[in-house]
Amino acid sequence: MPEAGLEVRLIDKTENPVAVIYAACRQCYSSMFAGDIYKDALASEDMEKAGDFIRKVVRSGHESPLEHVKFTFAIKGVSRALTHQLVRHRLASYSQQSQRYVKESDLSYIIPPSFKKDEKLRAKFLAAMETIQKSYNELTGLLKEKGVEGEKANQDARFVLPQAAETKIVVTMNCRELRHFFHHRCCTRAQWEIRALADRMLEICREEIPEVFSTSGAKCVELGYCPEGRKFSCGRYPLRSDVIRS
Ligand SMILES: Cc1cc2nc3c(=O)[nH]c(=O)nc-3n(C[C@H](O)[C@H](O)[C@H](O)COP(=O)(O)OP(=O)(O)OC[C@H]3O[C@@H](n4cnc5c(N)ncnc54)[C@H](O)[C@@H]3O)c2cc1C
Repeated sequence: MPEAGLEVRLIDKTENPVAVIYAACRQCYSSMFAGDIYKDALASEDMEKAGDFIRKVVRSGHESPLEHVKFTFAIKGVSRALTHQLVRHRLASYSQQSQRYVKESDLSYIIPPSFKKDEKLRAKFLAAMETIQKSYNELTGLLKEKGVEGEKANQDARFVLPQAAETKIVVTMNCRELRHFFHHRCCTRAQWEIRALADRMLEICREEIPEVFSTSGAKCVELGYCPEGRKFSCGRYPLRSDVIRS
């Protein structure tokens, strides 16, 4: 029964993202045709002008042009607890490994750091994983004796599987949604596992399009204050009430 670790791989993205966003932004303010703006931007060796324009537009909050560029990530080594939170972000596309079609005969799992660093907690957690695996195997075995096999057996036996169960998922988000995702999930209030995923995705996005993502992160990073309130704030930024009067 192996322990799994996070892996995030960018497997696809919109080609020429800066030129695409630039053309979409400029179309709003120009009498020129975006088709020509895009062509000219690509022909120009100097993308700095396009980059500066995009930075200004992003700062001004005019974000709809960012929707034309998308990123597809292949993600593995995350728990079902994480993907349950991830798929709450509705403006995205998901394809997740099925527990009906894929039998969990050798359950991989994610160990929370608080269990990992304490020998007693770790042992208790690993024992629970073993018990679950045993029950799952027994249930699929008993179902087989009754003539129920394959996905029909898996779909019922999976009811005993833990939220710690490792899963794999493909996620596609456009840049506007990615920024929104980072606002919420790079925040210290976010649960540790989805925060680690968001931090890694942000790192990749920054490398790919710094024009859009260099200032992205938790909400506070862009707002300059923490909107979470005193009880939940990590203290990195002043509270909203310290900065804004209403
Ligand atoms: C720290 C933290 C704690 C959380 N705790 C809980 C919890 O205890 N229980 C719980 O159920 N959830 C919880 N959530 C999940 C949270 O409520 C959201 O479901 C999740 O963050 C997705 O956010 P979203 O709806 O803004 O995102 P998306 O679905 O990605 O939507 C992006 C934006 O599009 C717009 N939008 C999308 N769909 C609609 C719509 N139907 N109508 C109008 N506008 C729309 C909104 O402006 C929205 O912000 C938590 C999230 C965080 C970050």
